[in-house]
Amino acid sequence: MASAETETPTALDVLRRVFGYDSFRGEQEQIIGQVVDGGDALVLMPTGGGKSLCYQIPSLVREGTGVVISPLIALMQDQVDALRNLGVRAGFLNSTQGFDERRETEAAFLSGELDLLYLAPERLRVESTVQLLDRGTIALFAIDEAHCVSQWGHDFRPDYLALSELHERWPSVPRIALTATATEATHTEIASRLNLGEARHFVASFDRPNIQYRIVGKNEPKRQLLQLLRTEHAGDAGIVYCLSRASVEKTAEFLVQNGIPAVPYHAGLDARTRAENQSRFLREDGLVVVATIAFGMGIDKPDVRFVAHLDLPKSVEGYYQETGRAGRDGQPSTAWLAYGLQDVVQQRKMIDTSEGDQAHRRRLSAHLDAMLALCETVECRRVQLLNYFGQQGERCGNCDTCLTPPESWEGTVPAQKLLSTVVRLLNERNQKFGAGQVIDILLGRSTPKITQHRHDQLKVFGIGTELKDTEWRGVVRQLLAQGLLSVEGDYGTLVLTPGSEEVLYKGRQVRLRREPERAAKAVAKSKK
Ligand code: ADP
Ligand code: ZN
Repeated sequence: MASAETETPTALDVLRRVFGYDSFRGEQEQIIGQVVDGGDALVLMPTGGGKSLCYQIPSLVREGTGVVISPLIALMQDQVDALRNLGVRAGFLNSTQGFDERRETEAAFLSGELDLLYLAPERLRVESTVQLLDRGTIALFAIDEAHCVSQWGHDFRPDYLALSELHERWPSVPRIALTATATEATHTEIASRLNLGEARHFVASFDRPNIQYRIVGKNEPKRQLLQLLRTEHAGDAGIVYCLSRASVEKTAEFLVQNGIPAVPYHAGLDARTRAENQSRFLREDGLVVVATIAFGMGIDKPDVRFVAHLDLPKSVEGYYQETGRAGRDGQPSTAWLAYGLQDVVQQRKMIDTSEGDQAHRRRLSAHLDAMLALCETVECRRVQLLNYFGQQGERCGNCDTCLTPPESWEGTVPAQKLLSTVVRLLNERNQKFGAGQVIDILLGRSTPKITQHRHDQLKVFGIGTELKDTEWRGVVRQLLAQGLLSVEGDYGTLVLTPGSEEVLYKGRQVRLRREPERAAKAVAKSKK
């Protein structure tokens, strides 16, 4: 389209004529201007913010082909089809392609008949691809999902590290790196690893005001979910995230049995079923997809009314990205998460047994801690989320903590009781136990396990009857979230941290969040 013979169209022309939009959004115009002029750009913009146009339009305006590096191989065909429907000459090269198709795309690129070429990052490691690019004209490099270069981040892809060489090989070709993940650490790492020293940085606000954030205590997750869907989201399209394939299957079945149209999606399903379920979700109204986090990257469905998590996400970045799939059309939407003590135990265990070195485990652990802090905050969730991404915000009035402010209470004494129980087990018996047993000791319960271990003879036996079982679980969760206690091993045994010592011996005070009334009621009901 931007061939030498025709007059160069302006960015605004392309926006209107090709994409059919009237005006630019946010900083799109400045970003596009920077790249059209041959400069580098680093773009941090939330999901749905309109990143694609930031490299698509410069690719059409500048001479040559825009080369887009993207890890989302499964979506390339769709992206290319969508562009072709708009009359844009687009193609892709990745491992899913047959020989003939690849040859055709390569020929089109070499003869200057492609506006956009999508490439999987591993392609650039192949010398023949590099030579191919050398023989054509490149308008720009767009590095999509640029956070994949960050080892600190949650979605590291080793192939992305090689992208640092683009600049050495093609010094005059502008580069634009884009991501919807924007912690300070990731931001800095992208800039340095991709050699974007000269780039202009464009950081959009990460606030998604139409999304209502809610995080509730998990007691009967499937029932709680059903309740949410029936009372607030009847007939709505949405995504339900579960950690395991098994729970994806079970939850989808459960919803269907209860009259809610739902399909499962996880990497264990065959490719056809996956593709079918995904396209039904995009096409049909009011379908619920129950999925592992394998689902969603690059999915552009504007009217997703809710995203529900039945298990704790591993990081705030993940949580933000997954919840960000709700409400791209700007209409009110819900991000709902149910989490419990078991989630913490399970994730700690996964971290303990994960591959990789100590530093890697420390990173995973820091990610989990930040997620827990978000769950247990008494402040506005949105403010906390934005702060995590290095941005400021004001109490939003549209999250659970703003709508029903949790009371906080002076929890130093219960914290000390719980921590000293852990200490006594260790010092007097050389034993470590999980939260269940520690709470039974505090409540003075005579269970077989208590009798067996003679825990009824401990001095702390029965010193915690002022709180109920569920309240003690809340105390444990919050101490974990505040780093005043930790769990380890297969059974989630409780262990002390430097913070615990401060509470026990140095007079450190502990404020705890009172569990909201409705959570307590739901527990009471489920116990009947
Ligand atoms: P991102 O990649 O940042 O998640 P997309 O590029 O997929 O976001 O854009 C999200 C949606 O917004 C798409 O449906 C896109 O067509 C639309 N969009 C982007 N820019 C504009 C604009 N200037 N005017 C109207 N709609 C836009
Ligand atoms: Zn709020």
